[in-house]
Amino acid sequence: MSLKPISEIGEFGLIEKISSLCKKTIPEKSSIVEGIGDDCAVVELDTSRLQVSTTDLLVEGVHFDLLTTPLHHLGSKSLSVNVSDICAMNAKPSYALVSIALPPSASVDMVEQLYQGMTHAAGLYGTALVGGDTSASSTGLVISVTVVGETSKERITMRSGAKPGDMICVTGALGGAAAGLNVLMREKQIMMEHLQSGEEYDRNMMNDLKEYSGAIQNQLLPSARTDIIDYFERNSIVPGAMIDLSDGLASDLHHLCRRSQAGARIEEGRIPVLSEARHIADEFQQDALDYAISGGEDYQLLFTISGEQFSAIAEHPDISVIGSITPEEDGIVLSDIYGMNITLKEPGGFDHFRK
Ligand SMILES: [Mg+2]
Repeated sequence: MSLKPISEIGEFGLIEKISSLCKKTIPEKSSIVEGIGDDCAVVELDTSRLQVSTTDLLVEGVHFDLLTTPLHHLGSKSLSVNVSDICAMNAKPSYALVSIALPPSASVDMVEQLYQGMTHAAGLYGTALVGGDTSASSTGLVISVTVVGETSKERITMRSGAKPGDMICVTGALGGAAAGLNVLMREKQIMMEHLQSGEEYDRNMMNDLKEYSGAIQNQLLPSARTDIIDYFERNSIVPGAMIDLSDGLASDLHHLCRRSQAGARIEEGRIPVLSEARHIADEFQQDALDYAISGGEDYQLLFTISGEQFSAIAEHPDISVIGSITPEEDGIVLSDIYGMNITLKEPGGFDHFRK
């Protein structure tokens, strides 16, 4: 057995390896429309309906830090990130399965708080919690959520449907989650310094976080854009291709373009950056555009739409056109505010196994 470390192929190399092994299990003639490779797996239910399913794992110390994350928020987020993948298929969530592994330090109260957040989010999305599993964990808290949803063959939207000439759109404002994370990490640092110095830690010593509340909320309590999916349905809009922004605009645009065998040109000046993220970036002497492009975890939707459908989204106050799809050979470029074209590199996204 070779001892090649996973960091050598990275998270996406690993997914490719797993994907090629799993593909062998899918029979040529089956109801499975899409396996690994999109935001959800897609299975045919009958002649008109499709079932979509997705799963996500949240691991303490990797995805969240209990020092800065209230359990109620964590419960809500663990469901939202999955529902966001359901939305990315232009589908609606139906039900969810939740499994948790609890460290020895966990209490009944903690589990209750976690599930209160989860059930609250489930209520907002109209998603039933129907099962799961519980286990002890020898390290930290682990949460695994699987969400199953439904859409029709007419409405399903994959990553692969983008065509040159299509407009590239994004919902909401970006960069808030990354900015919020920076603020939380700074607060944690202050907290740790106090604890290490033996001083009593007084929460009042924390900076007043009110001015950062929007960005912190984006980080701790993101919401899946089921409202946009409803809007598409009401207005008979079917995007060409769609993905949710979990890894960051640069990375997720690459995923979409790779599956569509297309290129893209986006304009810096059109990327909607959360104004609070700009203030935070100034404070940290960083670039808010970096938060928006490489930050990730905003859980907004990135989609393409043909010119004919543009009038139907033009009215929506929370959808921005940021560029257009180009032929594959043109690559993926960011046109800066001076009109200079910069190649948008792939590793803007988050790779869990990168060293
Ligand atoms: Mg996704």
